[in-house]
Amino acid sequence: MKFCSYCGARVVRKIPPGEDRERFVCEACGAIHYQNPKIIAGCLPEWQGQILLCRRAIEPRLGLWTLPAGFMELGETLEQAAIRETWEEAGAKVAELKLYTVFSLPHVDQIHLFFRAKLLSDRFAPGPESLEAKLFATSEIPWQELAFSTIRRTLECFLEDRRQQRFEVKVEHLPPSLPPSKRAG
Ligand code: ZN
Repeated sequence: MKFCSYCGARVVRKIPPGEDRERFVCEACGAIHYQNPKIIAGCLPEWQGQILLCRRAIEPRLGLWTLPAGFMELGETLEQAAIRETWEEAGAKVAELKLYTVFSLPHVDQIHLFFRAKLLSDRFAPGPESLEAKLFATSEIPWQELAFSTIRRTLECFLEDRRQQRFEVKVEHLPPSLPPSKRAG
């Protein structure tokens, strides 16, 4: 941030009185511009034992596979965000959302949350941000071509949990790059 969104003056980085960390502060109008993590919400859509993935048509990670997910908008609930992103990226309708994975990524100041969700039909179509939307059997998941570590981790948890038929919510902290892991595929 360079300029104050209230008055247009240049902002400086400093610790406001009574606080314990640096903020962007406007010395012209006194505004303190707080910055907080962004929330990314998505779905793991299931259809008859298969999982819906999208191939990204945009950077970052163009051409790689992801679960439908994206930045939450102002004025919507977490579930609405996950449903909307699934519709926008995969043209797919989902219901019966159940919170499944929650990841803190402090190195990029993001929180990623995924819901398990029931795909309502096998009719779907990629949106403008996707090259393809496709159902994968769990044995066909393209582990080497997944876009993000939170996608890989969510799918790993899902395969493991499905074997045990127990889907508990996972809350994890993911480091900048997840080491190669015991992959289910
Ligand atoms: Zn200002």
